[in-house]
Amino acid sequence: MSLPQFAYAAPKTLEEALALLAQHRGDARVMAGGTDLLLKMERRKLAPAVLIGLKRIDELRYIRFEPEQGLFIGALARLSDVVEDAIIRAKYPAIAHAASRTATVQIRNMGTVAGNLCNSSPCADNAPTLIARGAKVELVGAQARSRWLDLEKFFTGPGATALAPDEIMRQIHVPCPPGGSAAAYQNISARSKVDISAVSVGVHLTRRDGKCHDARIVLGAVAPVPMRAREAEALLVGTGMDEDVMRASGEMAAREARPISDVRASSEWRREMVAVLTRRALRQAWDSIASAHGGIVNR
Ligand SMILES: Cc1cc2nc3c(=O)[nH]c(=O)nc-3n(C[C@H](O)[C@H](O)[C@H](O)COP(=O)(O)OP(=O)(O)OC[C@H]3O[C@@H](n4cnc5c(N)ncnc54)[C@H](O)[C@@H]3O)c2cc1C
Repeated sequence: MSLPQFAYAAPKTLEEALALLAQHRGDARVMAGGTDLLLKMERRKLAPAVLIGLKRIDELRYIRFEPEQGLFIGALARLSDVVEDAIIRAKYPAIAHAASRTATVQIRNMGTVAGNLCNSSPCADNAPTLIARGAKVELVGAQARSRWLDLEKFFTGPGATALAPDEIMRQIHVPCPPGGSAAAYQNISARSKVDISAVSVGVHLTRRDGKCHDARIVLGAVAPVPMRAREAEALLVGTGMDEDVMRASGEMAAREARPISDVRASSEWRREMVAVLTRRALRQAWDSIASAHGGIVNR
């Protein structure tokens, strides 16, 4: 099938891209890697009159770590850049792992993390870990308007986000990992690796004095948007994280999930997988902290 007709603009600065977006308000779309957008256009789910390609905007192509502030991932950082980045692998390995679990090497070489979020698929692989890590996103509009939003609040429904029609996501910010903390990502596809996740779980745990001080559990593909399993989190805080507690938390997360049945999996199977993957992710994150023998470890 061919693409619908469209005009293509290739601005070289963010300012230029924002001006184009404002000029064609509602009738233009920005394109990063195009791996989601062009498919939607081919399937006639979207037919923007103008595509604004971001690829020539070098100021959006970066991954930067600042010891006082944390990690910044620019809108043009590709999934493969995140997988391979030495600092992300060392300080935020669960984020690198989630990117590595996204699609195939060909898609990762084209697609961006920002595009993965802006596409707002409930099963986007990069959302759960980033939300669990407390990520924020910077959205910019014309006249250098800028606002920061918790990533958790960015998703408003399947394919829908808090982005205004004249806004572009400039970057993603992830705070410095607190001492004695670790994160983990687990996902499963019911059919094959190239298929997208049928269930995914990102967790982030902080340990103090041998006990769980803070817990975040974020579920993907089991609700219209990635969701925190807050009751499951509450079961963990103040405990020593033994097997029974982790199992109970997984089962609670399964009860909190709101999965549907579709071509990928039944709701029953998804719910069971939430319990299994949550338990596994909790075990993995807690073991990562414990492996430092109570010292400071960040994952
Ligand atoms: C075969 C195949 C397998 C896939 N497997 C997976 C998978 O396993 N897991 C998974 O999560 N995804 C998967 N995907 C989806 C896709 O590859 C990812 O979501 C990818 O990260 C999208 O990034 P992109 O740069 O290509 O986005 P694009 O296609 O360029 O854009 C996607 C959407 O985001 C908007 N957008 C992009 N960048 C910005 C920005 N900076 N500001 C504002 N809006 C923006 C676009 O307008 C568009 O609406 C798969 C896709 C294919 C084709």
